[in-house]
Amino acid sequence: MNKITILVVEDDAPVRNLITTTLGAHDYRHVAATTGEAAVMAAASHNPDIVLLDLGLPDIDGVEVIRRVRGWSSVPIIVISARSEDADKIEALDAGADDYLTKPFSVDELLARLRATQRRLALIQNGGDRQSVYTNGQLAIDYAKGCATLAGEELHLTPIEYKLLCLLAQNTGKVLTHKFITKSVWGSSWENDIASLRVFMATLRKKLEKGPDSPRYIQTHVGIGYRMLKVE
Ligand code: CA
Repeated sequence: MNKITILVVEDDAPVRNLITTTLGAHDYRHVAATTGEAAVMAAASHNPDIVLLDLGLPDIDGVEVIRRVRGWSSVPIIVISARSEDADKIEALDAGADDYLTKPFSVDELLARLRATQRRLALIQNGGDRQSVYTNGQLAIDYAKGCATLAGEELHLTPIEYKLLCLLAQNTGKVLTHKFITKSVWGSSWENDIASLRVFMATLRKKLEKGPDSPRYIQTHVGIGYRMLKVE
């Protein structure tokens, strides 16, 4: 049932073998590339459903691969990187990656990310982005009316909180960086904006989440940004 094609870009043979073996065992089809140039070619010729991309490649950097592929494709890209520095992940996300995994990762973690990405794909294919009412779990946003409800109760949001909520909802499943969010909401990305963002996110969450310690809708990526989760 998983018959989707995954492009695996990884120059490290043991890691590549671990990933492709895992994919094979879970009924995913895959194609593999070991360099950045080969990855761009494979993305064009195989038209994969999802790309798993190592950032440290022998020829061109993984971020450059993302920029090139994003020139013509919106295929979900999950970055897999040994680099623990947040700056690399942020650069990859701002270049158009959807999600990231940090090496070493577990097979279960990889499969969970793939399932989450498939749910996001299904949402897009069902026209979730174009519908005038967004629904996710008990959350609903009526874009035409400009209001949001949780379990049928209207959420009393400030204009900025509403803008933030819409931006996250329109990118459900995707990690949005602080810079991307502040640029979208305020049109700029200064330190002050990022500090304000934290404050607005805190007030939005207080209204949206039942238990602030166990958020269901908005996930924090410390030092990186936020993501709206698809709630079952
Ligand atoms: Ca590598």
